[in-house]
Amino acid sequence: MSAGSELSERYDRQMRISGWNQELVSGASVLIAGVGALGCEVAKNLALSGVGRIVLVDRDVVELSNLNRQMLFDESDIGRKKAEAGAEKLRAMNPHIRIEAYPSDLRDLPAELFASVDVICSCLDSWGIRRWLNSVAVLNNKPLVDGGIEGMVGNVQVVIPGRTACLECHGTTLIPQEERMAECTLRRRRPEELIEDLKAQGLEISREQAEALFRHNLKTVFDLKYTPPESVPDGEVRSLLESIREKLKPRMPAVQSVSSVIAGIVSTEVLKIIHRGSIGRPMRGLLVYDASNSRFTRVPLKRMENCIVCGQVDTSPPEVTLEDGATVYRLKEVIAERFGFPDAEVIHGTRVLGEDAPLSSVLGPSGEGLLYVVTTRRYEPLPIVVKLRAPGDR
Ligand SMILES: [Zn+2]
Repeated sequence: MSAGSELSERYDRQMRISGWNQELVSGASVLIAGVGALGCEVAKNLALSGVGRIVLVDRDVVELSNLNRQMLFDESDIGRKKAEAGAEKLRAMNPHIRIEAYPSDLRDLPAELFASVDVICSCLDSWGIRRWLNSVAVLNNKPLVDGGIEGMVGNVQVVIPGRTACLECHGTTLIPQEERMAECTLRRRRPEELIEDLKAQGLEISREQAEALFRHNLKTVFDLKYTPPESVPDGEVRSLLESIREKLKPRMPAVQSVSSVIAGIVSTEVLKIIHRGSIGRPMRGLLVYDASNSRFTRVPLKRMENCIVCGQVDTSPPEVTLEDGATVYRLKEVIAERFGFPDAEVIHGTRVLGEDAPLSSVLGPSGEGLLYVVTTRRYEPLPIVVKLRAPGDR
């Protein structure tokens, strides 16, 4: 059998779908962020359908507790990098496509990789990194299909940059408050507080260890969970961080059947985007599946013109007005509250501002200026206009 006729036989049933174009599918590139329950299923669906290039990204290794739902792995994969073990299975399922494996943190990938794909799939379990990926998708003008599951509930949102709402457009209502605010206002802390917080999570560290973490600006459980270990220069502190993170890993309730429903919808939306409408228009709004009550709910979402990710931030940056004597620390508190960035650094020109600096000395006599906010929640720094209000001003 010739290669061409073998492929037309392999894909015969899907090619019978009205509007299907196998050439578009075979020519498409999709990045899958997260190779957990959702990512495994989405990757399998897209590989079987013959998506020509699939990029798998996940820094984690396979564990026994993954095997109830992460269908690309079996017991012989325990301890292996998920991206690599997953890629191997997919190549066996469909040898006619290209699979690339990146066993690294999403934030360490070269920028060109995001620019080189047609669609980005977010199959991640933490809001911090989902928000980061959303900003990457919007910046690169790439459609994003975001799926999430927790126990018996799942959701899907399709983001077409500039046309539909992004994850951040409704961040204040849709991103869980505890995730947005996670210990935002607790930055000025003492090592004892970190020791107490970890104890509450069943973890003991010594006073010396807490102090060492503090010296690397790791002051909260949130910092420990989300600071990439690679960014910590001191080897000893880095391995301490890694071992704490291991113990703090989210252990959310998850069942395979709900993951596969959500992954099925995510993959179908990807195929619709690849087909540019010929097999159906991509979904609008947010779809929520409540498996316990067998209920699908569509929540319409409007794009927000003033969104800090997909709005006109370059031409009209958000404004923050503070009292005259405010310090950089006060500004960070407001940033945490308003934008949900728990780890903001504030930049003026090329200088990172210390927390105790009064803003009046940074902004000069006009009491107004453009500063940049760097956070792990965004790919690019966020410009903000900061204005100081003289005492008595309203
Ligand atoms: Zn937006």
